[in-house]
Amino acid sequence: MKIGIIGLQGAVSEHLEAAKRAMQKLGIEGEAIWVGRPAELEGVDGIIIPGGESTTIGKLMQMAGLFERVKWLAKNGTPILGTCAGLIVLAKRGDEQIVRTKQPLLGLMDVSAIRNAFGRQRESFEAELEISGLGKEPFRGVFIRAPAASEVWGDAQVLAKFQGKIVAVQQGGLLAVAFHPELTPDTRLHEYFLRMCRR
Ligand code: GLN
Repeated sequence: MKIGIIGLQGAVSEHLEAAKRAMQKLGIEGEAIWVGRPAELEGVDGIIIPGGESTTIGKLMQMAGLFERVKWLAKNGTPILGTCAGLIVLAKRGDEQIVRTKQPLLGLMDVSAIRNAFGRQRESFEAELEISGLGKEPFRGVFIRAPAASEVWGDAQVLAKFQGKIVAVQQGGLLAVAFHPELTPDTRLHEYFLRMCRR
């Protein structure tokens, strides 16, 4: 299995490590690679869009020619995991701030994203989450100036909420979370994604 991490900005190396650890846990032979150019997406079984600065990630993806390539791959069935800023980039719609900053959106998920949804007072925090599909054990979510989804429609399914806000969504092969699963030792979310990639 080959997982490509979009490596233009943000928490890239942490995702590389988390994906590798999750592969080991599942007994999957494979590699996680750093992707900076469209050609590097050749033959990947899944793509991860990390957290960071969504405007920067979106614009750099466009400049690198990764935007159209990732869209095409997603439409042809390649699973994608977007975390934090990655959730915003995957969404079809964004709030006023996202529109004003001309945030490039891949527009792949039936999700409306709100930037910095948890406000200034709570820029960063951790919370125990109950996430559908990850079992009974709570998952420790690390939120860093995190977005949320205000609304989902179509085939998008809410997997987790926190304080009434949607923080995990799946739509077929697309998975978006508002927090940073790569910053905790718990690899269950990456394992869940790798299982989606294995199908
Ligand atoms: N608030 C950031 C943004 O809108 C996302 C933060 C993150 O990815 N940790 O891009």
